[in-house]
Parts: sequence; structure tokens; C-alpha cells
Amino acid sequence: MRSVYLDYAATTPVDERVVQQMTKYLGVNGEFGNPASRSHYYGWMAEEAVEEARNQVAELIGADSREIVWTSGATESNNLAIKGVAENYAPDDCHIITSALEHKAVLDPVLYLKDKGYAVTILQPDANGVISKDAVEQALTEKTRLVSLMAVNNETGVINPINDIGQLCQQRGIAFHVDAAQAVGKIPLDMQQLGISLLSISAHKCYGPKGVGALYVRRRSDVVVLPQIHGGGHERGMRSGTLATHQLVGLGTAAQVLQEQQQTEVARIAKLRDNLWQGIEKLGNVSVNGMNAPRSAGHLNICFHGLDGEALMMGLRNVAISSGSACMSATVEPSYVLKAMGLSDQDAHSSLRFSVGRFTTQEDIEAVITSVSDAVMSLRSASKG
Ligand SMILES: *Cc1c(COP(=O)(O)O)cnc(C)c1O
Repeated sequence: MRSVYLDYAATTPVDERVVQQMTKYLGVNGEFGNPASRSHYYGWMAEEAVEEARNQVAELIGADSREIVWTSGATESNNLAIKGVAENYAPDDCHIITSALEHKAVLDPVLYLKDKGYAVTILQPDANGVISKDAVEQALTEKTRLVSLMAVNNETGVINPINDIGQLCQQRGIAFHVDAAQAVGKIPLDMQQLGISLLSISAHKCYGPKGVGALYVRRRSDVVVLPQIHGGGHERGMRSGTLATHQLVGLGTAAQVLQEQQQTEVARIAKLRDNLWQGIEKLGNVSVNGMNAPRSAGHLNICFHGLDGEALMMGLRNVAISSGSACMSATVEPSYVLKAMGLSDQDAHSSLRFSVGRFTTQEDIEAVITSVSDAVMSLRSASKG
């Protein structure tokens, strides 16, 4: 059954403008060539498309197109950034700082390196779910080579002060990697200003296709990223493999659309998100996780105190949302992100993530408020017996 989709933080539909562009690069009458073919028209046209996409992505984040390395998504970008920097050092000469709130695509590569003998510090956030510059500063050692933190948390939408932390890392000559999968198109990202050395991007979180992403690698810095996929030397040796023209055109077009409408879109989404909260707040005994922190416009992670989130979700058949992060949906473990923010197991189990996006309407919001109200009332009256 098609329901109201409020799970934009898990993935987004591909924008129709993006679909239109992508289809031009597939069929026999399209520009299907291999961008690495240097000897004929087919290759040249594909290469031109890939380079235009590179410009579009670079422009969105204030980077130079030579700083964009194509990948298969933010998971690969994170792996490339973290392992690619760490492998420049012997394990006993490299300390890595990250946080307990990171996506598994950051935590797992860091824990893999820890297993290999690298020193690792996993920072805990403050009660609002923010990693402060002070927390990073206090964890620094003379062997700290890499700090990896997300810009926007996927579960709560809480925004980290990456600008300040970037400056700190720059002053100390430490590589700073930012997982921006949830931040692109939602908060301003300007590589001219920030002390960010590496930044991960995913297309499917911002109305592009799944299976494609990018890693921004700052040119004028000492950061060397060693390849994790070898063969052919594409992407200046950092990431081999035939470039997926249609996918990259998709990411490029998605970036261009964001460039054009990000400001108005963010304002519209924030308003819808606030309307949703105002409707749900009336139920009482509910709170927003990360309430006192700056948050991204689309996210609304609500704790329905005393209710079981899974049971509530079952009662919300006409609303597509997540409990915890999408990647954890297969398990009934309480969200490690919410727990790290200080929530009890019970409150974490009582929390649901609503995420609003480009195609959400005010009618959708009203329908969801009604459904949530009905489901909450019926659970509450059931628990009274
Ligand atoms: C979705 C997401 C990822 C993974 O991105 P993929 O492109 O799906 O590999 C990584 N980090 C964050 C914060 C995400 O939200």
C-alpha cells in the first residue's frame, strides 16, 4: 500500500528532472560511451557529461571540480576517506577521533582500523546530541591524524559545529573528514570557508539515484588518500573503475537542482516539519530528541514517552517512517545514537523518526497528524485497560 512518505532521511525519490537527464546516457541512441575511451566521439561525449556533473557537484559545495572523486555512495566515500588517510601511517603512529553518533559507514571502518592496532577515541555528545569543538580539542594527542564527524545526524538531524572543528583541525594540521550524506542540500556547505579536508556525499539522500556518491578531497592540503579499490587508475588513482556516466549525470543534475532551489526548499520543508510537530505536540507527553540543538529542516525525531515505538508504527499503516536509523530496522536494539544522547532504553524504544522532503505537502502533514493522534490515543487507552 502506498502511504504518506516521511522517510526522506532513509532515501529520496529521484527527481523527475534527474531521471530525464539520466536516460540520455543509457540506450543505443544515447551517449552510452565509456568516459575513458579517448579515441572516438562516444567516449568524448560521455567524458564531457561526467565532467559537467563534476562541475555541478563542486559548485554546490564551493569546491574545485578537481577536488571531486566519484564513488558508489557515502559508504564508499567514508571508507576511502578514513582508511585512505590512516594507511599513510603505521598503526602506532596514528590516532583517529570520531563519535558515538556516527553512521555505521564511519564507525565500522574506524573499528576495523582499531582492530589493526590504530588508536581510536570515540567521543560522546553532550545532552543535545552535539559534538563540541572542546570535546574534540580535549581528545587530541600529538599522534592524532584524522578527525571524522558527521555534519548532520541521520536520526535526529542535529547539526555539529563542523566549521569550528574544521578550524581547529586546520590549525593543528590534522585531516578532518565530514560525512555530509544528510547535509548536502540541507545546510550550507562551503569548502572555501571550512577547514574540511574530506567530505562524503551520497546522491540518493538528495533526489539523485542510489549507488553513486562522491568524496571531496581538498587539493591544497597535505592530505594523501590511498586508494581502496585498485585497477586502471581512474579518478587520479584514488578510485578505479569505469565511471557510471548515467549515475554521475544523475548526481550532477541533483546537485544543480539543489543549487537552484535549496534556500526556498529548506524554508518550505522546515515549515512543514514545524507544522507536523505542532500537531503532534498537542498529544502531550511527547518530546523532540535533540530539541535544544540546531537541527536540519527535514528531521523530526519524537519520543512518545511510555509508548512502544514499534507498536505505534504498526498503528501507523498509512505513514512510512523509521524507528531508529533505517539500517537498524532489522533489529530491535534501541538506537545507539539516541542512547549515546542519554536516552534510556525505554525512551529510545519510544522514539520514531519522521523526515520531511521535497515532495511532502501540507495535506500529507495533516493526514499524518490525524493518524498519529489516532494511533497514540488508541495505544494509551489500551494501556489503561
Ligand atoms: C545514508 C548515509 C550514509 C550511507 O550512504 P550510502 O550512499 O547509502 O552508502 C552514510 N552516512 C550517513 C550519515 C547517511 O545518512
